[in-house]
Amino acid sequence: MAKLWDPVSILKGVGPTKAKQLAQLNIFTLQDLICHFPRAYEDRTRLVTIDKLEPDKPACFRAMVMGTPRTSHIRKGLDITKVQVADHTARLNLTFFNQKFTTEQLQYGKEYIFYGCVSGDFIGYQMTSPVFEALDAPPVVTRQVLPIYPLTAGLSNAAMLKAIRQALAICDPPAEILPAQLRQQYGILPAERAYHAIHQPASMEEAELAKKRLIFEEFFIFCAGLSLMRSARAQTRTAPYRELDLTPFINSLPFALTGAQRRAIEEISADLAKGTPMNRLVQGDVGSGKTMVAAAAAYLATVNGRQAALMAPTEILAEQHYQSLSKLFSPLGLHTVLLTGSMTPKQKRLTREAIASGETQLVIGTHALLSDTTTFSHLGLVITDEQHRFGVAQRAALSEKGEDPHLLVMSATPIPRTLALLMYGDLEVSIIDELPPGREPVDTFLVGETMRARVNAFIRKQVAEGHQCFVVCPAVEENGELDIKAAETWAQTLQQTVFPDLRIALLHGQMKGSEKEAVMAAFARGEADVLVATTVIEVGVDVPNAALMVIEDADRFGLSQLHQLRGRVGRGKAKSYCILTSHNRSEQTQTRLKALCKTNDGFRIAEEDLALRGPGDFFGSRQSGLPVFRVASLSCDLQTLKQAQAASVHWIDNHGTDDTPEATALRSRIAELFHRAEGTMN
Ligand code: ADP
Ligand code: MG
Repeated sequence: MAKLWDPVSILKGVGPTKAKQLAQLNIFTLQDLICHFPRAYEDRTRLVTIDKLEPDKPACFRAMVMGTPRTSHIRKGLDITKVQVADHTARLNLTFFNQKFTTEQLQYGKEYIFYGCVSGDFIGYQMTSPVFEALDAPPVVTRQVLPIYPLTAGLSNAAMLKAIRQALAICDPPAEILPAQLRQQYGILPAERAYHAIHQPASMEEAELAKKRLIFEEFFIFCAGLSLMRSARAQTRTAPYRELDLTPFINSLPFALTGAQRRAIEEISADLAKGTPMNRLVQGDVGSGKTMVAAAAAYLATVNGRQAALMAPTEILAEQHYQSLSKLFSPLGLHTVLLTGSMTPKQKRLTREAIASGETQLVIGTHALLSDTTTFSHLGLVITDEQHRFGVAQRAALSEKGEDPHLLVMSATPIPRTLALLMYGDLEVSIIDELPPGREPVDTFLVGETMRARVNAFIRKQVAEGHQCFVVCPAVEENGELDIKAAETWAQTLQQTVFPDLRIALLHGQMKGSEKEAVMAAFARGEADVLVATTVIEVGVDVPNAALMVIEDADRFGLSQLHQLRGRVGRGKAKSYCILTSHNRSEQTQTRLKALCKTNDGFRIAEEDLALRGPGDFFGSRQSGLPVFRVASLSCDLQTLKQAQAASVHWIDNHGTDDTPEATALRSRIAELFHRAEGTMN
């Protein structure tokens, strides 16, 4: 018997080339292979007679070959093979293109099972390139439910199927983690059966059951892990904050807090006074003013004699928080520093000294905060901004720098409520569901390439009125993919041919940190009219004078991501606009993008995204800061997710430390999942 962690190269037929192709899909071990789930199935179980074949309804039929296949060479690169087959009901002409060698296998007078789809007119039906296998051969491509796998260049579905079935034949699938009683309660297949059935289902119904089991399993592991973390934290004690007067802070603000901001701040104050570490998520749409809520929490930490750290996912964002918060805090006598990776070694050293000595009370930074050389003197509050960019493990790494500090995470990713509990199962949630007064919704339009001239004219008009524009592109450099506007080339085109008289700037993720900051700062000062950028500007960036955003090839982005991007405009007084361009005329794409034109409500957009793509895709996006779920490639229903969540919480409370084989297997799977999460975070 082979082991789950054995490399795929031990399989017959998997040499260096195949191994490399599999590695492209992050498949290295037999376990990876066994956990590479189909994205769809083709039901090839239906067996009909020839007279019952219908156009557009692929089916299997049993037929005898009525002659020797004849191949004609039409021209270079085109061979056509024709043969007639029959059963007791009718005859059917088959045509194959460039399949000379396969069709030579068809023997006159022998019976085969074919799978295909008829087409034709009043003269009669015929069939093009059906797949087939001999009646006495084991069914592989006919008479069964065929799994369709996510693939990569050079790797066929058949090769994938073969590798996976071989792996399952020589190796036991992952061990059972769900006790029999739980499986019964939720109508769930045993592990062994599910792992086999997902790759080789006897029917579509069995495939569904296997899918349900594996989705349940993966979310069960994830939720159980979160529950374990939560119960560990609930047992720790911290000194409650006694000083909870926010008046000086509130009086120093240039505006009145919104009701939603005040409520979130009250919830936070109550947490801080409790004596156990806070674990709170502040979720609010872009522009809802989460930074001020974070600032209030930081203020409370500092007046209670603790340091606060605010971690942002990008240097641009950290810099921006530093600018606004240091301005707010210095009149209050509080010392703020910025720590990012692109500072000079000397700057970093001095900053770290100020943090370690306790001289500085508020530290704002990027991942640089996580480095071993950053130590705090008395870190009491850890805030992460745009939480969806960080994983659970990073959040934990920063909090280890203090003694059970309070945790506050802020996210603008409008996770549908139905999923929020799952994603943030270990957090309390405050929702900011109100925008500061005077915000007008951003008008959004979807256009095709025929509108290009009008889009350009609109950019010109906005600039003439003294506003600035963002142009967002899906990629940095041309990568050979047709028609995708790469930021670099597009910026050049705009500057050289479309707007030679305007000031065009370029910003993308491959630029150095200091370069990015310089470009961003210059744009914020109004030194460029149009900023061509990739999604680096997605989070947090605040340039109130920008009133127009053009998003090129918008179909390349997820709906929630588009909503995030759009949040970069509409932050000032001027009426703002967002134009989505797309070549993709497919109905699905158009529906998806039009959802964005209809509403500015991030939660509604997320619900729509969820409805259109299913939670599989929702969780699958690398954005989420979640572990990469393997079931992400399966579409799954919310009901299963909710059941898994409920079951895991109950199970951890009652059996979390049991010695049964299931409990032991579960604990090792939890460790593995969170370990994998750490490796995949950006
Ligand atoms: P986000 O929730 O997206 O992080 P920000 O905290 O960046 O939003 O706030 C967006 C803008 O709104 C900032 O310019 C901020 O100064 C401003 N702002 C925040 N709260 C209020 C308020 N209560 N009244 C008016 N403007 C506010
Ligand atoms: Mg923000």
